[in-house]
Amino acid sequence: APTKVQEKQKEKQPGSPPLPRQNAKITPPSPPKVICDSSGTIQLHRVGFLGERNKGGFARVYEVKESNGARLACKVVTKSSLKTKKAKTKLYAEIKIHSSLEHPNIVRFQECFEDDENVYMTLELCPSGSLMDMLRRRRRFTEPEARFFMVQLMGACHYMHTHQVIHRDLKLGNLFLDANMNVKVGDFGLAALIENPGERKKTICGTPNYIAPEVLFDTANGHSFEVDTWSIGVILYTLVVGRPPFQTAEVKAIYKRIRDNEYDFPADRAISSSAQALIQQILTPDPSQRPTLHEIVEHAFFTNGAVPSYIPTSAHDAPPDFR
Ligand code: ADP
Repeated sequence: APTKVQEKQKEKQPGSPPLPRQNAKITPPSPPKVICDSSGTIQLHRVGFLGERNKGGFARVYEVKESNGARLACKVVTKSSLKTKKAKTKLYAEIKIHSSLEHPNIVRFQECFEDDENVYMTLELCPSGSLMDMLRRRRRFTEPEARFFMVQLMGACHYMHTHQVIHRDLKLGNLFLDANMNVKVGDFGLAALIENPGERKKTICGTPNYIAPEVLFDTANGHSFEVDTWSIGVILYTLVVGRPPFQTAEVKAIYKRIRDNEYDFPADRAISSSAQALIQQILTPDPSQRPTLHEIVEHAFFTNGAVPSYIPTSAHDAPPDFR
């Protein structure tokens, strides 16, 4: 898959100079071909590159093979990028939260270790990419597919919330797929643990298209679990329409549309009235008025429509026929 930088270069007119390589100065050396922990009990053979995170904490993700042949994803964070206390605290929070979760629809966290150069996290391998990659190929999903993915996402989200974890960055790019097209929620880099009941979080974070209004506009009061519910509404809209509801070219304009609750359903997409009604309920500006995850799965959109028991892998490229 092309990297973001490569994609940007492709869009450029011929003759324009190539974009400078992002992070060229700080790109650390590759991790060793055989990754080992200090005691020598873990030995991972690096076999491929899966992707990287550039914003807020540099991390690279590789495909690795254990000595027993099992394939895993290995997230590598260079210690040189952990110089500040803030960077360390963020990484430790991600490790603490992700390693505490165990659910069939959450990327499994296997273990964490370090050598002199890097901190390593081994994760369940999701070789089929994310729902974002799949949406790019498919343009949009059928409503039965959306129900299938949403039920799995909400199961994972309910589990996180009962374990006092707010994910805070639910979006198609963080919903990975396993070989059987099951959803695996990943990337706990922005997740927060609610340690005291009623505690509110104040950090402004998330991804513009998916950010709940209270994160942006009620900074005094803070935010809580309902921000994930909002993102779930944005995800449902994006699955069935093919683009996020508040999308515009400029981030400021996205925030204005979120503030004004300004979005519509394109007439040519024939979105069912129950899908529209549910999306409208979820995208309620007042977080206390948003439906609970239980109320969402009990909505007519789910109870009156087919929820497939599985999605065929052919759905990566073409709409499945559920008849
Ligand atoms: P982000 O999701 O913010 O890009 P991550 O650090 O979670 O950051 O992952 C970086 C990239 O690595 C992802 O976009 C994805 O392409 C790849 N990746 C992450 N985790 C896995 C995994 N468990 N299996 C396969 N690929 C992964």
